[in-house]
Amino acid sequence: MGETIAIINQKGGCGKTTTAVNLAASLAMMDKSILLVDMDPQANATTSFGINKVELENTVYSAISGQVNIKKAIIPTMVKNLFILPSNISLSGVEVELSKLDNYHIVLKELLESVKSIFDYIIIDLPPSLGVITINGLVASDSVIIPIQAEYFALEGVADLVNTIKLVEERLRSPSPIKGIVLTLYDSRTRLGKEVYTELKKYFGDKEHIFKTVIPRNIRLAEAPSYGKPCIMYDEDSRGTKSYLKLAKEMLELEKENK
Ligand code: ADP
Ligand code: MG
Repeated sequence: MGETIAIINQKGGCGKTTTAVNLAASLAMMDKSILLVDMDPQANATTSFGINKVELENTVYSAISGQVNIKKAIIPTMVKNLFILPSNISLSGVEVELSKLDNYHIVLKELLESVKSIFDYIIIDLPPSLGVITINGLVASDSVIIPIQAEYFALEGVADLVNTIKLVEERLRSPSPIKGIVLTLYDSRTRLGKEVYTELKKYFGDKEHIFKTVIPRNIRLAEAPSYGKPCIMYDEDSRGTKSYLKLAKEMLELEKENK
């Protein structure tokens, strides 16, 4: 049975999509079969693979709304073992539609049920909010990875996020333990990165795993989407590529330890 992991943080620009895309590609390179689910109406994960979001016939939205079977909406990417359930702007209406349903929070979980056994990992890229889509992402996921940007106020909003995860666990009886927290956009030339890492350690104590792998600020990671490729297909030797491969490896090792 596959494991579903949501990449979550209500802050925009902290590296969620970059992490979802490049962690998914790294795991696929390690022979894991992966489904990346783009749950952001902005569809940055979708376009990161060179997929024209405007021309898409089937999307995660058409699957959620029952217009098409999920298996028909899933498409292969240029990376072997890596498939995507793409998104586009049509997903933007889903928040309002879903909130009318009694069981609005389990829609994504139920949608993914039929494909869970096909993949080793399902990785969900979420939008920058704590709304209905994110709640669905939490309920659908077995665990979460939180990317945190190495900047001043890095921890701002983290309490709200942790609180939301707790509320979903308690009220909806759907625990999504934190698999790990990953520091992104790290600049080794400044003291700030190290300070934020120390702050994270202090904040989460020994309770949560903070990935030893940090993701450096690397121009290749920012450029790759405009070429419609994950970084590993754009510049295999870049620091960005290497850091996400290392993160994938650390994640797999962590799972072995916890088994
Ligand atoms: P989010 O999905 O959380 O909004 P993104 O992954 O889209 O964040 O990242 C925001 C912007 O920062 C994007 O333009 C992305 O290319 C860039 N970016 C993300 N991570 C890195 C990194 N490690 N190095 C350089 N640029 C990055
Ligand atoms: Mg994003």
